[in-house]
Amino acid sequence: MKALVKSSPKRGLELMDVETPSPGKGELLIKVKATTICGTDLHIFEWNDWASGRIKPPLIAGHEVGGEIVELGEGVQGFEKGELISVETHVYCNECFQCRIGNKHICENVKIFGVDLNGVFAEYAIVPAQNAWKNPKQMKPEIASIQEPFGNAVHSVFVGNDQLEDSNVLVTGAGPIGCFACGILKAAGAKKVIISDINDYRLELAAKMGADVLVNASNEKLVDVVKRETAGRGADVFLEMAGSSAALSDGLNALRPAGRVSILGIFAKPVPLDVTNGLVFKYAKVFGINGRLIFGTWKKTSELIEKKLVDPSPVITHRFSMDDFEEGFSLLEEGRAGKIVLVP
Ligand code: NAD
Ligand code: ZN
Repeated sequence: MKALVKSSPKRGLELMDVETPSPGKGELLIKVKATTICGTDLHIFEWNDWASGRIKPPLIAGHEVGGEIVELGEGVQGFEKGELISVETHVYCNECFQCRIGNKHICENVKIFGVDLNGVFAEYAIVPAQNAWKNPKQMKPEIASIQEPFGNAVHSVFVGNDQLEDSNVLVTGAGPIGCFACGILKAAGAKKVIISDINDYRLELAAKMGADVLVNASNEKLVDVVKRETAGRGADVFLEMAGSSAALSDGLNALRPAGRVSILGIFAKPVPLDVTNGLVFKYAKVFGINGRLIFGTWKKTSELIEKKLVDPSPVITHRFSMDDFEEGFSLLEEGRAGKIVLVP
């Protein structure tokens, strides 16, 4: 089969012919219908410090997928050939303390699909059946694929169980996940969604997803805009989805007292923060967000998409054959894309 492989420890991916795998115990073989490129795949492509410390070539990259089951491994129950599935990326052990107390998403022995295990940039892929999520047959494979990052946004938005109806929410970072969050927040009844980025292309995508106020943080002072837009009070909820220390610090300044912050962004370096004023005196509620609740977040994600409460499709900006993957990765590096679909 055709596969995009990180074949040696250097920049790039190689389109290769590899042997089609067969499913082992507890595994499914899927025919990949659509995959989407994530920031993690870009790190693997670019071979940055994180990737070179973590990835052991050869590895088939990619983890966001919509695929059809073609074969069931030994002992697999509850799945049938022909079903359209998505994949939860955190491959959990089911045995550690966190798995046993219901925190499978932060499994102590977690393996990341497409990072520690071969992934989905290929014609076929092996998926642990416990990580497969079934979709309705009529769902578009590319929508099945983007449910994974969409789930990050769902987790971040709903984690506090606080009142979102009529709330003013600040999102920093209009990457695909920040854009999904805008649609989810509006579906949850948020009055005003303010989103910042430093890239106008991406802010326009956020507008298509329902953002009310766009802030280019290179030109405008985020705190001033949020204060102006919230009658001086500040944001009720703040979602950090940029992985930028400036965005985190400005966002905390723009949060109202007793507000809630969800931090999803991954920061390249430790972040200097005014904890006393930004969090303590503010009586802020802080949530670090890792992955998706397994499978609570997936259930919520399917409901939002299947009931058409959120249409995620504006975030998908490009579609390529897997043969033209380099074009897709270049667009992402240049910040001129939302989600990019690759079809094997
Ligand atoms: P992305 O990299 O596509 O988007 C991040 C956006 O932030 C970009 O559009 C960038 O221009 C913008 N940005 C950079 N500096 C900014 C600033 N100062 N102010 C405002 N915006 C700024 O990422 P994504 O795929 O949408 O993911 C969002 C974040 O979540 C990333 O940091 C990613 O690494 C992280 N992530 C975390 C998890 C988790 O489980 N915690 C899972 C997936 C992704
Ligand atoms: Zn575990």
